[in-house]
Amino acid sequence: MKTSRPIRARIAPAAILHNYRLAKSHAPQAKAWAVVKANAYGHGQWRAVEALRGEADGFALLECENAVALREAGVTQPILLLEGVFSARDVRAVIEHRLTCVVHCLEQLELLVRNGQFTAPVALYLKLNTGMNRLGFTPETLGKAWAILQQLPQVDVSLMTHFAEADGERGVSEQLERFRRMAGDWRGPVSLANSAAILRHPTTHGDWVRPGIMLYGASPFAEISAESLGLQPVMTLESAIIGVQDLVAGDRVGYGGTFTADKPMRIGVVACGYADGYPRHATSGTPIAVMGKRTQTVGRVSMDMMACDLTDIPEAGIGAPVTLWGEGIAGSVPADEVAAAAGTIAYELFCALAPRVPVSLDETATVNRK
Ligand SMILES: *Cc1c(COP(=O)(O)O)cnc(C)c1O
Repeated sequence: MKTSRPIRARIAPAAILHNYRLAKSHAPQAKAWAVVKANAYGHGQWRAVEALRGEADGFALLECENAVALREAGVTQPILLLEGVFSARDVRAVIEHRLTCVVHCLEQLELLVRNGQFTAPVALYLKLNTGMNRLGFTPETLGKAWAILQQLPQVDVSLMTHFAEADGERGVSEQLERFRRMAGDWRGPVSLANSAAILRHPTTHGDWVRPGIMLYGASPFAEISAESLGLQPVMTLESAIIGVQDLVAGDRVGYGGTFTADKPMRIGVVACGYADGYPRHATSGTPIAVMGKRTQTVGRVSMDMMACDLTDIPEAGIGAPVTLWGEGIAGSVPADEVAAAAGTIAYELFCALAPRVPVSLDETATVNRK
């Protein structure tokens, strides 16, 4: 819905394409599943698919219904169901629409076998649990899975796993070692790497990588900025100043009065709150940009509003443009920095963008700017 309240999110499809190409340049021998789950991490599934339609080797998401919708819209690339099938209906859709399907436990494999007419080849990704302990076969259940698969001539199997700490200290070596042990003398295709592994662990690249967060221009690493990785921000959240207050020392701001002015200050009230998806836990001091200058938030984020320090931006009054995160006319604020100030990650900020925020496409961005 178009509204006149000034908050807007803008999505730059050219930046998604740039970031996809960057992922591919790090893993030049591999194909890439562009991960568009969770409504493309809050950016809009269709916007991401359109941006990458001409180039992505494949798309990965969760819901069978969304995969079928992509097929019906003419997407011809492979589509990977990251959690596999949930019902007999899903099995029929996998076969009818030639979807690639993760299989992560024996029950799911049996669901496939019971409900599938394997008359045409079906592509299955056997997921191995190598230490994340979320989904996947163990060495014990994997043997049983192979026995069942042997009776299905028309399956085209790949092996996959998912890393718990590709971005962290421990890295991937332990999980990679377990993967190799479980895979044995497997010579078929493998898929291991998320964004962090694509950027940091080339030995994991295998046949298909699975970039997610990096497509959306945020860093998978707490200590490395997206910009220094060459990523371009995709989502910009912007709004405007709708109120100005002049404070004297001792005045407090917002619910709970968690911020107290220690000197005379000029405060701007921004039309953006947690009901728009801005994190309520962002503390005073979270970066924000107003009229091209970086400043800081003050006080608690409320449902529809938040405050920022305009003391050093005297030119900013009612109507002044504000960038909450991304690269906007009011300045540039990495989503990763806002997330860190709120004790979370950009993944969560993007996914939390609220439906009441109008979204538009930023067609001015070009693929190779910079
Ligand atoms: C979400 C997901 C990814 C993408 O991870 P990023 O950290 O966003 O790159 C890759 N593989 C699987 C199985 C996933 O669920």
